[in-house]
Amino acid sequence: MAIPFDRGYYKQPFVRLVSEYPAEDVYPVDDFRTEWGPIFHRGRLDGSARVLILGQDPAQHEAIVRRVLVGTAGKRAQGFLKRLGITRSYVFINTFLYSVFGQGGGARHIAVPAIAAYRNRWIAAILHGSPIEAVVAFGGLANTAWQNWLASPAAAEFGSSPPFQHLTHPTWPQSSARTRAEQEAATE
Ligand code: URA
Repeated sequence: MAIPFDRGYYKQPFVRLVSEYPAEDVYPVDDFRTEWGPIFHRGRLDGSARVLILGQDPAQHEAIVRRVLVGTAGKRAQGFLKRLGITRSYVFINTFLYSVFGQGGGARHIAVPAIAAYRNRWIAAILHGSPIEAVVAFGGLANTAWQNWLASPAAAEFGSSPPFQHLTHPTWPQSSARTRAEQEAATE
C-alpha cells in the first residue's frame, strides 16, 4: 500500500513562506552558507503533525536532500520520536534557514529581529495548521528561538502554546568537543 509522504509546499501559508524567505541582507555570508540556499523543514505540513521539533541549522546532507534534519542528527531525532510512538506525525524546522559557520555565527545572530520574525511566521503557521501537542528544542539556540516565539505578539495572539521541552542537541557532544577525551568526559 502506498505510504502518504511529505508533499512539501503545496498550500498556504507555506507557498508564501517559501517565496518570501530572508536572503543575504539578513543572513550575512561571513557567518552563513547562503550559497547552499534556504532549507525550510522536514515532515508533515498537511495538518497531521502532532510534534514540532526545533533544530539548529542545516548541514551537507540537508543541502542535498533540501529537507532539514536528514543526517545523523535527524536520524537520532527520528529514533527519539519512534520511542514515543511517532513515526510520521511530526514536523521539523531549524533555528536558522541557512547552514552556520561554527557555533559563534549562530550565537551572534540568534537575536536578529528579521531572522526571528521569519522563523516565528513558520512556528505560527505550523501551530495554527496542525494539532501540535508538544514542542521540543534540540540545543541552546533552538531553546532561545522558542523563548523568542513565546515573547512575540504572534504567540500572544495564538493563546496558550503547547508544552515545551529543551533537550541537548542529538549530535552533542560530537558536534562541539574538540578531542575524543573531551567527548568522553562529556558523556561520563
Ligand atoms: N541538521 C539540521 O537540519 N539541523 C540540525 O540541528 C542539525 C543538523
